[in-house]
Amino acid sequence: MNGPRIHDLHTHTHFSDGQLSPADLVARAAARGVHVLALTDHDVTDGLPEARAAADTLGLTLVNGVEISVTWNTQSVHVVGLGIDPAHTGLQEGLARLRDFRVWRADEIGRRLDKAGIPDATAGARARSRCGLVSRTHFAHFLVEAGHAPDVRSVFRKFLVHGKPGHVPGQWAALEDAVGWIRDAGGQAVLAHPARYKMTATRLKKLLSEFRELGGEAIEVASGSHSRDDVFRFAEIARRYGFMASTGSDYHGPQNFYTDLGALPPLPEDCIPVWRDWPVATDVLAPT
Ligand code: AMP
Ligand code: MN
Ligand code: MN
Ligand code: MN
Repeated sequence: MNGPRIHDLHTHTHFSDGQLSPADLVARAAARGVHVLALTDHDVTDGLPEARAAADTLGLTLVNGVEISVTWNTQSVHVVGLGIDPAHTGLQEGLARLRDFRVWRADEIGRRLDKAGIPDATAGARARSRCGLVSRTHFAHFLVEAGHAPDVRSVFRKFLVHGKPGHVPGQWAALEDAVGWIRDAGGQAVLAHPARYKMTATRLKKLLSEFRELGGEAIEVASGSHSRDDVFRFAEIARRYGFMASTGSDYHGPQNFYTDLGALPPLPEDCIPVWRDWPVATDVLAPT
């Protein structure tokens, strides 16, 4: 094989709030020329076996991943784990607790929307969840289909974010715990889409410093939710803090507004890719 291998290290399936099955996600990634794919569903790893089987069939390298919901100083942030052992008990116990919180939160979002004059939202969200995990994305799809807003983006703004009727404050994992579970499970902790967090420069510095001290190894430099400027800004930040750089579309499915699989530009040249020390599958390297 000639040329750089294409990595997409942040994707979702219908095991969390994505639309595709793991098999369909892997097939689409392969068709789009992705060589190395990480499946990183929110707070769950149950899609990995199906993804692994599909990846083996199609000759694509699958990285076991997860995207962990974290509450850091009252704010939600996401930490991706790459190369985790999904059988690790500590990791699975931690993720199970987050999914328990999701169950309670789904009811609470429904109660709050009900008070705001929107009945049956929890049932509507649950009905849109393929595998039992309920995300705000499922509420968003219900609310759009019920005619409360024209599209998913505006439904978030109107109902599901801080200060809006369906907002419930998160009680996700502590940053220390999320990084700890990932590292204990043999993985690398990556701060997801850092440009998405609405925080002051001072607060962002504090987050990055704490993440590094706790053993965080990389940040997403290229992301489906980063602008071109964000990519260069976070490449510079990665360099300054000594983080490796990751890249991921954050693909959720064909109807989503995020970037398609494998569609991101290459990382800026002076980044150290998070995969620098990964073993390279010989079948992929063999000249054809
Ligand atoms: P949850 O983890 O249940 O709080 O849901 C968070 C998910 O909602 C994210 O992973 C995104 O997929 C989606 N999301 C968050 N904010 C927005 C937004 N403004 N517009 C569309 N989707 C969003
Ligand atoms: Mn999502
Ligand atoms: Mn995220
Ligand atoms: Mn994501």
